[in-house]
Amino acid sequence: MLQIERVADDVYVFTSDLYAQVTAGAVITPAGAALIDTLLFPQETREMRKFIEKKLECPIRYLILTHYHADHTYGASFFPEAEVVSHAKCRELLDTVGRVGLKRAQQQNSELRGLKLVLPEVVFSEGPLELRLGNKTMILNHAPGHSEDLITVLVKEDKVLFASDTMMPIPVLADGDYKEYIESLKYILNYELENVVQGHGEVVLRGEVGKTVEALIEYITTVEAEVKSALEHGKRRKDLAYFDLPSMGRSAILLSGLVADLHEANLDYMYDLLSKTVSALPHLIEYDEDVF
Ligand SMILES: [Zn+2]
Repeated sequence: MLQIERVADDVYVFTSDLYAQVTAGAVITPAGAALIDTLLFPQETREMRKFIEKKLECPIRYLILTHYHADHTYGASFFPEAEVVSHAKCRELLDTVGRVGLKRAQQQNSELRGLKLVLPEVVFSEGPLELRLGNKTMILNHAPGHSEDLITVLVKEDKVLFASDTMMPIPVLADGDYKEYIESLKYILNYELENVVQGHGEVVLRGEVGKTVEALIEYITTVEAEVKSALEHGKRRKDLAYFDLPSMGRSAILLSGLVADLHEANLDYMYDLLSKTVSALPHLIEYDEDVF
């Protein structure tokens, strides 16, 4: 069952039961609704639409896409009347990588065959972009790191931040830049917030925001340091098998166990990336003692 949660008077969060607890949001105003992302599978996006239009009786005016990844954008064609807003880079990536990905996904999964690629009509590059609808102000901020095009959405009046995949139980690094990821996480600490809606997983409440952000930054810096040290000691990728989530004091069962796979992918990514720049330290190359 799609989980529907009210995080402020007029702000709703929809959490998928079918794919990795991915989230979407709706900001309800007398002038209509602004959605933040869609869900991956049509049946859940339809359910979300029905809830907003039938139950809340609110027409949908805007659809903000936080980044081009499939799990956040595949429902966009269910809202043909909405003005679609994103970062300019998101439009570009949807039109290239996204187009190819959708075709492939449709070949593999018949449930996705009816979907159409939707390209945002309102885009911005520098930001922040302030979007006003009814009595709400949404501030869209570029926050690259998880992906190049990612934006976060602050609902100013309610102090609710839709952080998208900048915040999720384990950061996913491979399609972005981990240094930018850290900067985007640090930026979140500047806001005064009531709630943060993560791209995947549970809503983070006010008292937990600081420590959750710090833990995500620490995860990235620890992965970087451990992989760097392994490379300096001439270790191979498979030598990092011990460096799993429990060894870092983290749960390996969140997102139905998917976090363990995400962590493995992060190690692969970091190992490949750093192996281009880090070489084994000379004093750590093992010499035969007899030589000296
Ligand atoms: Zn995602």
